[in-house]
Amino acid sequence: MRVGIVGAGAAGLAAAYELGLAGHTAEVFEGAPFLGGQASTFDVNGTPLERGYHHLFRSDTAMTDLIGELGLAHRLRWIDSNVAYFSRGRLWRFTSPIDLLRFGPLPFEDRIRLGLLTVGLQRRKEWRSLEAQTATEWLLEHAGRRIYDVIFAPMLRGKFGKYHEDISMAWLWNKFALRTTSRGKGLIGKLKEQLGYPTGSFGEVFDVLGATIQAQGGQVHLRTPVRRVIVEDDRATGLEVAIDGGSPERRDYDMVLATTPSYIFPKLVPQLPAGYLAMLTDKVYLAAVLVILELDRPLSPHYWTYIGDRRIPFLGVIEHTNFMPPEKYGGAHVVYLANYLERDDPLYAMSPEELYREYLPHLKRLNPAFDESWVKNYHHHKVDAAQPIVTRGYSERIPDHRTPIRGLYLANTTQIYPEDRGTNYSVRMGRMVARMMDGDSRA
Ligand SMILES: Cc1cc2nc3c(=O)[nH]c(=O)nc-3n(C[C@H](O)[C@H](O)[C@H](O)COP(=O)(O)OP(=O)(O)OC[C@H]3O[C@@H](n4cnc5c(N)ncnc54)[C@H](O)[C@@H]3O)c2cc1C
Repeated sequence: MRVGIVGAGAAGLAAAYELGLAGHTAEVFEGAPFLGGQASTFDVNGTPLERGYHHLFRSDTAMTDLIGELGLAHRLRWIDSNVAYFSRGRLWRFTSPIDLLRFGPLPFEDRIRLGLLTVGLQRRKEWRSLEAQTATEWLLEHAGRRIYDVIFAPMLRGKFGKYHEDISMAWLWNKFALRTTSRGKGLIGKLKEQLGYPTGSFGEVFDVLGATIQAQGGQVHLRTPVRRVIVEDDRATGLEVAIDGGSPERRDYDMVLATTPSYIFPKLVPQLPAGYLAMLTDKVYLAAVLVILELDRPLSPHYWTYIGDRRIPFLGVIEHTNFMPPEKYGGAHVVYLANYLERDDPLYAMSPEELYREYLPHLKRLNPAFDESWVKNYHHHKVDAAQPIVTRGYSERIPDHRTPIRGLYLANTTQIYPEDRGTNYSVRMGRMVARMMDGDSRA
């Protein structure tokens, strides 16, 4: 069977690879000039770096299995997680139960309460009943206002911006449930969460995946936006594509898979019936906006810092070179200043220079010694459709991978739940939908 795939992110490439393994021929079309979608890379002093910070958890087995199948397991490094909270004017380490006991912004009884609550959520298996409440409602009831304001509000705001009070409790539960599997072995190991990174970058993983698809007989086209899915007699029969930005041409397929965000998909297929369309158009996404600094020295000793101070206009600080060594990036200490924003937010509209200027004075709050002369270069990236908003009762509103149009399938990040979207789940979903298409073609 010949399959046309829209999008060369983790989902589209994983699906093409899985179809290739089953003996089918996949042709992938990507509008951007690079592979990897949201997990794509750009060049920092000769080394690829993700546009948005990326790491893996130990529980990300779909991604680590794929990396192994591609012969890149030796490139994967695991390090102990190193998380901090910026609260009450200082950084607090927040990685282990001992850090929790020392966490000054909460009174001692709240630290114990938070520890017990964490263990309870990690052990819990059932999540459907949690969907009836938002994380904010559940936490205010079970943890109390102080713990919510100091710990969870900054964490949720860092991920969901202005929607942070609307997020389903099932989503938060899943974060806790997965964290148990992200920990190492042995007594000391169990106290520590580990994070993984492919040392050649996620870009290398997608490059090798693209080459593997081609070796299977498939094709991957960059700079080739898909204009429309061709539908004849209620069946998807092909794609209209603009190869290398040229004039649109028709390609015929037995089946089509789209991995585009939900707001793009209906533009490619205006024939979608109202019920299915409603499940696409009700989805809300935030964009990730990143300022990436190259410093001549470290900003902090932490990899990941949640910002619990509303005066600071960014929500997360990710110091990548507290994970990978700065020598890899020509000696630069790489720091992401991250925000999740709506596309009508003034910070989203700012030019790279304006946003850099807006953020700069606040770095002194994190490290009083910071001086602008430390900044040797900076970059700016926006990733649209970065974070789907998953609200109360979300599981009822997830569109099926099999669309109402025969032979047409959808696999995008709004269909990942209650897990947090991530490369692991896009790979898992892409491979699963490819097997679904294979099964349907045989039936
Ligand atoms: C800032 C940030 C940090 C993240 N951190 C992590 C992390 O630490 N760990 C982790 O695992 N994940 C992380 N993620 C999430 C992860 O990157 C995504 O969940 C995953 O890459 C999504 O893959 P996808 O293939 O489902 O979607 P996408 O990557 O969005 O791929 C869809 C592709 O379709 C293409 N496309 C759209 N329309 C068309 C068209 N008409 N024609 C042709 N092509 C089209 C797009 O250009 C895109 O390449 C992060 C994401 C962001 C934004």
